[in-house]
Amino acid sequence: MKFINDASFSGLQYITADNIHSPSVSAIFSTRNGGVSGGTPETEYLRSMNLSLRFSSGEEDYGNAKENYKIIISSQGFKFNNLVTLRQKHTSNIVVVDERVVEENRNNPFGFNRLSEAADAIVTNIQGLLLSVRTADCVPILLYDPKTKSIGAAHAGWRGTLAGVGRKTVECMADVYGSNPKDIKAAIGPAIGVCCFEVGFEVLDGFIKEYGDDIVKHFTTKYKSKPYCDIKLMNKAFLIEAGIFENNIDVSDLCTKCNPDLFYSARYSGEKYGSLAGFIGLKNQTETEVL
Ligand SMILES: [Zn+2]
Repeated sequence: MKFINDASFSGLQYITADNIHSPSVSAIFSTRNGGVSGGTPETEYLRSMNLSLRFSSGEEDYGNAKENYKIIISSQGFKFNNLVTLRQKHTSNIVVVDERVVEENRNNPFGFNRLSEAADAIVTNIQGLLLSVRTADCVPILLYDPKTKSIGAAHAGWRGTLAGVGRKTVECMADVYGSNPKDIKAAIGPAIGVCCFEVGFEVLDGFIKEYGDDIVKHFTTKYKSKPYCDIKLMNKAFLIEAGIFENNIDVSDLCTKCNPDLFYSARYSGEKYGSLAGFIGLKNQTETEVL
């Protein structure tokens, strides 16, 4: 993965998932740089590429977040109303975006496709759509199968990870598009690192109950008395169990809490925080050529 500072969009900075990102597929993770949010001391915590859709938690109206989305979407050559966002609730529910879903959501008040049902993962094989998942410490997972030309994105906090959202998204791509996990490439973006992700013993117990004692290897108590969870590597392990080759999984080593100048972090900021997002989309080749 590498940082891109996009000269065409002043100050815009994002990270490309280089095992997926190409002229025909966009696969990026936002940073907090290059947007229009957070112009006052009261809204400094939102500076500047805030992609949160939690209206109640911010002191800005929705306009700035919408402008931020427009900047990123334009930088990737997609149309604003072809963005797909989710109503995320730490579930393992998956939305399969087909033409019917696109039609049902095209004219909603958000100006783009904010799917109404609660879900934390999304898959499609429709060219021209840009799928997104929002995070602020949680793990963003992007998936691409070059054989079936299908893509997926998942939001995995500890609840979603416990519920197996990454594995289920891979299984969904296999069921719906006939993907073989051996062909799928995956990218796990910036998220809270094991350095900072303290969890309660009840969380550890929940994982042991679901996955057995072996899961303890993804936790450490070396920092303090509480367990610290390596949620990025746990998600990587689950993707490998789902059949994806280890060599096809790229994992960001950046911790969102340790890098407040680059990322939003719920753990760093406390109650008020902005949102990052992971994006993946199949570019409409003919349209790109015409443009
Ligand atoms: Zn950290």
